[in-house]
Amino acid sequence: MKVLVVGGGGREHAIVWALSKSPKVTQLYCAPGNGGIAALAECVPIKATDVEAMVNWAVKNAMDFVVVAPDDPLALGMVDALEAAGIPAFGPRANAAVIEASKVFSKHLMTKYHIPTAKYQAFTELDAALDYIRREGAPIVVKADGLALGKGVVVAQTVSEAEEAARAMMADGKFGAAGARVVVEECMTGPEVTVLCFSDGEHLVPMPSSRDHKRVFDGDSGPNTGGMGAISPAPGYTPVLAAQCMEEIFLPTIAALKAEGRPFQGVLYFGLMLTPQGPKVVEYNARFGDPECQAVLSLLESDLMDIFLACRAGTLDQADIRWRDGSACCLVLASGGYPAKYQTGYPISGLDQAGETATVFHAGTRRAENGAILTSGGRVLGVTAVGDTLASAIDSAYRSASHVSFQDMHFRTDIGRTF
Ligand code: ATP
Repeated sequence: MKVLVVGGGGREHAIVWALSKSPKVTQLYCAPGNGGIAALAECVPIKATDVEAMVNWAVKNAMDFVVVAPDDPLALGMVDALEAAGIPAFGPRANAAVIEASKVFSKHLMTKYHIPTAKYQAFTELDAALDYIRREGAPIVVKADGLALGKGVVVAQTVSEAEEAARAMMADGKFGAAGARVVVEECMTGPEVTVLCFSDGEHLVPMPSSRDHKRVFDGDSGPNTGGMGAISPAPGYTPVLAAQCMEEIFLPTIAALKAEGRPFQGVLYFGLMLTPQGPKVVEYNARFGDPECQAVLSLLESDLMDIFLACRAGTLDQADIRWRDGSACCLVLASGGYPAKYQTGYPISGLDQAGETATVFHAGTRRAENGAILTSGGRVLGVTAVGDTLASAIDSAYRSASHVSFQDMHFRTDIGRTF
């Protein structure tokens, strides 16, 4: 099969890496790809959000299957457009991807179907939002409705901080249209766990749990990032909790989307908080998380292409989905200054040595004409190791990463060690 993966980050490198092991996949393409993906797939210079150009290219080059990995093209309806052009695609249609693209939609869905989540109200008028914030008091959480690159959420410790966040989103247009509506919700407490699930619209199969580290510095300090590392499985997510989440959250969500006429085919991401009142949904995403994907797919023993095909065929209940025992750790090596300003274009050394004991997924890299790999983004690499225990996976990721260097390289020293 000729398969195209849409996207160009560490997540897409992990998907391409897993698909490259499938005997069914004879030719792999990735748009736009990156310096590491280029070793496994032919990179196609089309932006992941350019739906028209992507579909035209896929038709012209007779793709048998397309995997749409990032949130933006899913929300823009790339899967709908590919299917309309006769090309089978993995990922939710736009009417189901809205579970990530609109927090107002997802909160309403959870309320309607009694899925546990933080108490909330949605607002389109600033004054009403401010009234609610003052009435509820702090701590309180203010969220922009739409996609805001993970930056549209403010966990406010004081009323004035929450008021300021609502003003910035609703009056000052900080996130454009994404912030015209906001959700104001109760502040929950407890450890966070991510569970990615495959779904064919009707059946659902959870992958091993995972936990990411969003803050840029050790001890969960500094600004939020796309993710500085992840481990899988997440400590504390017991089989009892897994069964409870399946019954109270995962299956009801898939059934709710189906009942709403929005069957979800693809990877549904459950961001959960294990609160004193039980597990609750923090957020849904309509795709693999990055860097959770790198850690989780490192544990997959079966053929990812077969699973994708089963999701699309509605036969996920019969699919062979096996995971190796043990744990995985993905350590992100970032450009100094990220997530604010940083320089790019620096040569990276030590990749081959690191690759002897870990899988090095590229995120922000590009291949120079002379073959050298250069930095090209904020998050540069995800050094991902597996081990029989979580401790051995973490040690192995750090030892492997110690071979890698580029100017101003920054990473956290406590991935998997603080919660
Ligand atoms: P991303 O897609 O990048 O994960 P997002 O913009 O969709 O982020 P959320 O996941 O909803 O935002 O929230 C980001 C973080 O804010 C959560 O991981 C959690 O730590 C915190 N958070 C969100 N909602 C709450 C809440 N109700 N109570 C406490 N913390 C919360």
